[in-house]
Amino acid sequence: ASNTDFVLAVENLTVSFDGFKAVDDLTLYVDEGEIRVIIGPNGAGKTTVLDLICGRTRSTQGSIRFRNRELTKMSESAIVQSGVGRKFQTPSVYTDLTIFENLEISYPRGRNVFGSLFFKRDETVIRKCEEVAEMILLKDQLHESAGLLSHGQKQWLEIGMLLIQDPELLMLDEPVAGMSVTERQETAKLLRRISENRSVIVIEHDMQFVAEIADKVTVLHQGKILTEGAIDKVKNDPKVIEVYLGH
Ligand code: ADP
Repeated sequence: ASNTDFVLAVENLTVSFDGFKAVDDLTLYVDEGEIRVIIGPNGAGKTTVLDLICGRTRSTQGSIRFRNRELTKMSESAIVQSGVGRKFQTPSVYTDLTIFENLEISYPRGRNVFGSLFFKRDETVIRKCEEVAEMILLKDQLHESAGLLSHGQKQWLEIGMLLIQDPELLMLDEPVAGMSVTERQETAKLLRRISENRSVIVIEHDMQFVAEIADKVTVLHQGKILTEGAIDKVKNDPKVIEVYLGH
């Protein structure tokens, strides 16, 4: 297969901050429908990789092709519109709005600043909100205030606010941090449902959760890939054990 078959092809990606290479000649391919988990000690460059893909940080060298479009030259908002969704660690839902309203304002319309203020609440939008609410297990609370949700449910709502934009690639930074055991299990199922027709990249520290969701694990260390593969292979790799114990 040629490299154009991948949803995401990151090649020889480097970013230097004052001469320090936070990401160093990184090459990474993500398949359609894949859940890829990126692990590695603090400072390994995990967050920077996601920042580079979503255009928040600009690379020094290398390319990022998503559906064969080069992202390194595109604006952050153009990258979102091309189908890349990114969720940060802390949930940022509107706590004074309902679940429905949070989803509704995230629905892409017109793509102009005022678009979300002046629009017709048509059936398509309503159905889409209901469909997403069901997926994130909040259908019964659709018209309740988002301020009443648990921390975990707020994280799901934020995922829903990305799903409503129909991303083909979803990137999540530690999605189960601070969640209860039950919420973690539900999140694992949610991510599997999401990946049925999308690719997902997750940064995660919880190895049990990694084992539950990962199709493939990439271990980063000092901006480079230490090893890559199935979780069972990766977690017993002496190189991986060494970088974790050495820190
Ligand atoms: P991780 O997510 O794996 O913990 P990060 O990607 O946050 O690692 O950081 C990798 C390295 O790059 C760290 O040493 C961090 O201090 C450095 N770094 C990240 N962003 C910047 C920046 N904007 N300016 C300078 N250094 C940065």
